[in-house]
Amino acid sequence: MENCTVNILGTDYEILVQSETENPKLKECDGICEQYSKKIILNDCKYTEDEVMRVDNFEEYKKKVARHEVFHAFFGESGLRSHSDYAENEELIDWLAIQSPKIFKAFKELDLL
Ligand SMILES: [Zn+2]
Repeated sequence: MENCTVNILGTDYEILVQSETENPKLKECDGICEQYSKKIILNDCKYTEDEVMRVDNFEEYKKKVARHEVFHAFFGESGLRSHSDYAENEELIDWLAIQSPKIFKAFKELDLL
């Protein structure tokens, strides 16, 4: 993914791909949703290139991370992020990130989009 902008419920979010050097917060995670500066920051994961145990199909992993952060942004922009039990539930957010392509595929097959 390259740097770009996406509209989340009427608010533009910058999507930035950065290194851990550029953004030290990425030393703790592969993606961040900065709700108050309207940025989704994705780790470029260059540090993993030489890791023997790096997951296969790394591009798909990075897409999953991006979807995860986009879901955080949707919850945040909807006003649910900081005062709900589920909007910050990483298990739920990751489920949405993993299952949403399959859900959208089913919707498309049924002409529901
Ligand atoms: Zn998360």
